[in-house]
Amino acid sequence: MCTVEHGINRYVLQFAKKVSRTIEDMTGIEFKVKENTIEEKAISFEKGMVVFLPFAGTVQGTCILILDEKVALRLIGVNSNLSKQEISDFRPDTADAIKEIMNIAIGQLLVQLETDFGDLSYSNAIVTFGNTYFPKVASGSIFIEGEPGSIKCVVSLNMVNLKIAKKLKSITEDLTVKSKQLYIDGLTSLYNRLYFDEIYSKKLYSYKESKHDISVLFIDIDFFKSFNDNYGHQVGDLVLIAVSKIIKDTIRTEDIPCRYGGDEIILILPETNLEEAKQAAERIKKAITKFKLNKYIKADSDLNITLSMGIAQFQKNDSPEILLSRVDAALYKAKTRGRNQIVISLP
Ligand code: GH3
Ligand code: MG
Repeated sequence: MCTVEHGINRYVLQFAKKVSRTIEDMTGIEFKVKENTIEEKAISFEKGMVVFLPFAGTVQGTCILILDEKVALRLIGVNSNLSKQEISDFRPDTADAIKEIMNIAIGQLLVQLETDFGDLSYSNAIVTFGNTYFPKVASGSIFIEGEPGSIKCVVSLNMVNLKIAKKLKSITEDLTVKSKQLYIDGLTSLYNRLYFDEIYSKKLYSYKESKHDISVLFIDIDFFKSFNDNYGHQVGDLVLIAVSKIIKDTIRTEDIPCRYGGDEIILILPETNLEEAKQAAERIKKAITKFKLNKYIKADSDLNITLSMGIAQFQKNDSPEILLSRVDAALYKAKTRGRNQIVISLP
């Protein structure tokens, strides 16, 4: 018994068992798998009757039966004491019988191969007589033996397709992860500016002809620079992370929060009119009020975070650029009017 180098012996053994069972079912003649004859090596040249059935898909391979023609004749119930001419006359019949055995056996083996590797397809068994040359491929063989003689069962498997498929899958998965990361802001885990620039106009235009509403909410942290200046950039970062998390936890899953730049966050709110956008902004304002930065930072006085917000609803005569300038103007008004407030841009 040799080592299982290509893991092929498992299939060789299964194939041999299925062939012997099929022969018994079809002819009543018992064949036994000679397990000690299992071998793993490339085959190249065979003599006698050769039946082979190639299959292809995620893996490619061939199942082969090699037997003496006289054994094949016995399987169809013809005595082997025939002249060369008589044997040759029987060829179409023996070929048909062995093809049938092969088609059934490989059909059963394919169920296992498909479980292991995925979709495969095959057509019909091919029968040759005389000398057959096979390109040297990784294969394993085993004999099955019955009263009429022995039959060599061979399975060859080429895993190149499988390796390519696996590689392709891992590259695709890697790319999916990387392309997702490409659009995420590293500090806040919000979508980044690149993502916003890519989807903003598209998203708005998708609402242009519809009866549905869409709004934007522009948020800026008040006096954010003072956190940096008074407590250091790490605290500034912490404030940005905390505010982003609060916003994310407060909005719906269909809302799109993006870090526009620095301490500015812009939300695209699909299916939202001005009144609903205002309610969303107020929910955020309330959640921010509850957040106590003093829990995380040692400071003599209370550290409150407040936000200024501008809101605008997309109007039929707006362009995405006009909407952005309207919401920006609303935010600016919130700042100049004293911060910590929500300003609505009326159409
Ligand atoms: P205002 O109320 O007018 O918005 O004042 P502000 O201090 O919030 O605004 P300003 O634009 O003057 O300051 C924003 C600061 O945010 C300036 C910049 O150094 C800082 N900043 C930008 N990105 C980051 C970041 O990723 N981390 C930290 N810690 N600071 C950042
Ligand atoms: Mg600010």
